[in-house]
Amino acid sequence: MRKAYIAGNWKMNMTPSAGAAFAKELRAAAEKAAVDVKVMVAPPFVTIPAVAEVLKGSSIIVAAQNMNDHESGAYTGEVAPAMLKDLGVNTVILGHSERRSYYGESDSFINAKLRLAIKEGMDVVLCVGETLEERESGRLEEVLSTQVSGCLKDVSAAEMAHVTIAYEPVWAIGTGRTATPEDADAAHAYIRSLVASLYSDDIAQNLIIQYGGSVNASNVKALMAKENIDGALVGGASLSVEKFLPIMTFDK
Ligand code: PEP
Repeated sequence: MRKAYIAGNWKMNMTPSAGAAFAKELRAAAEKAAVDVKVMVAPPFVTIPAVAEVLKGSSIIVAAQNMNDHESGAYTGEVAPAMLKDLGVNTVILGHSERRSYYGESDSFINAKLRLAIKEGMDVVLCVGETLEERESGRLEEVLSTQVSGCLKDVSAAEMAHVTIAYEPVWAIGTGRTATPEDADAAHAYIRSLVASLYSDDIAQNLIIQYGGSVNASNVKALMAKENIDGALVGGASLSVEKFLPIMTFDK
């Protein structure tokens, strides 16, 4: 039985003080509603300490949105996994489509970061997903297969316990356009079959696959009802407690 995993990617929003105030409100709301799914929030790097302080002792996980592919050194402006771990951050989102498209991140670069994160004992939410043009030209499976196998290259079966995959069709991110639950479930089933062929049925069955792309309070229940959808990676709607709480309590 896979435990539902709801995550909020704050992107480049929330100063440290705004993030701390928001986290306080979120924590209180989640505790009052007795949220019993796994919940994560990913603030910008500089906002992490303030949010981690507020969420200390709560079950809400604080994650990073990115990290560098080196342990330390002359990489101006970058953040190493050890720095995140020193803040108590043990989870990192990698391969988000905004990083792929705006910063040119390739599958092999994401793979290097993913292997380093796992080597450092961290958990990873690995994002994959196709553009509209790729979907409309019938290349959905080819794109997912290339991304999944490229990003998981040389990751062992045992290490897969640290990996969550987020299926995020690029055309549904921040657009208000969601994949239908059926389309999303089909893509998730395909990702699961890829993982089964790369590893084993057992690993594929235990893999948490989140859906991301304009998830909100109105569509989360139908998405989460699908067999292969185990959670959500939420952007816009994770920036408001009023919008994020009903996503966390989708089943109630
Ligand atoms: C995201 O950035 O991962 C995302 C899914 O954004 P949104 O929910 O705003 O579409």
